[in-house]
Amino acid sequence: MRKKTLTADEIALRRSETARRRKNQSEQRLEEEKIETINRLLKPQAPKRRGQRAAESPGPSDTEMITREPTPPPPPTRVRTVISDKGTVVAVPERWVDRLFMQRVPRKRELDSCGECGGEGIYPVNGKRACSIGCVKALKASG
Ligand SMILES: [Zn+2]
Repeated sequence: MRKKTLTADEIALRRSETARRRKNQSEQRLEEEKIETINRLLKPQAPKRRGQRAAESPGPSDTEMITREPTPPPPPTRVRTVISDKGTVVAVPERWVDRLFMQRVPRKRELDSCGECGGEGIYPVNGKRACSIGCVKALKASG
């Protein structure tokens, strides 16, 4: 008999405990939601300001920005090999060519010839090129 009442008390206690825990959890969840909402309301202040500025001075709209962005053509990224009876043609993406070319072109070719004697213009002088100190002086004297 005594045990039974104890169990009943225990059950009642457990029930109220569970109910209290559930209440606490839901209260906690509500509190978290409230904080989340507050944060969400606090954050969009920057976009609001942007919107106001856009209204003041009409610039490119969002839709214009969006349509302009996907314009760049899809970059060719693959090497194509065309084999015919005339020979084999290897086609590389255009952007690769610059890189490959830049590495192979000797520096000499980028230099203009000396404005004085036509030699290798290694020194820049007044928009011209000179091959030696002598030619630098000569070009400076003439120009
Ligand atoms: Zn020279």
